[in-house]
Amino acid sequence: MEIVCLDLEGVLVPEIWINFAKKTGIKALEATTRDIPDYDVLMKQRLAILQEHKLGLPDIQAVIAEMGPLEGAYDFVAWIREHFQLIILSDTFYEFADPLMKQLNRPTIFCHKLVTDDKGMIVDYKLRQPDQKRAAVKALHGLNYRVIAAGDSYNDTNMLAEADKGILFDAPDNVIREFPQFPVTKTYAELKAQIISGSLRNIPA
Ligand SMILES: [Mg+2]
Repeated sequence: MEIVCLDLEGVLVPEIWINFAKKTGIKALEATTRDIPDYDVLMKQRLAILQEHKLGLPDIQAVIAEMGPLEGAYDFVAWIREHFQLIILSDTFYEFADPLMKQLNRPTIFCHKLVTDDKGMIVDYKLRQPDQKRAAVKALHGLNYRVIAAGDSYNDTNMLAEADKGILFDAPDNVIREFPQFPVTKTYAELKAQIISGSLRNIPA
């Protein structure tokens, strides 16, 4: 009884805010938690910029729909679902992820939620629970599942530590250096091999 948990952005799809900023040409939206460490301050700023440009959720979803998953992600997700149950654990919002999840054949995803007004403008956001990626793996352990998890960034490391096997995928050098306990992968082929070696079953490559 094994479940694979994958991060979304940077693993299966591009970084949504950065790509959205590029697609719309709104430079100010390129700020990330590296520029503004307080997530609440960063999100409030992003929502104010969207208001200023009069971008409502339908406009944003249309832009996100054009992004598409990373090359090879569709087949990789299909391979995992052939051999495991898959849950995507992401700190994005359902409303942003939706156009991309559709293109990945809708695997299960646990993430956060936006609050919109009757004109479709985003007025607030709701984090489902703190440290939700780790909480999800803990809950799966409580249900007696083994968990193999992979992610690319700081917000994944608690999930990777909680999992029976945690794997870094295409992570930046600072994350790789700070968390030497996790195997490092760069391609889906390498990630597949680590997932197979983390499984207790005989999974064909
Ligand atoms: Mg990520």
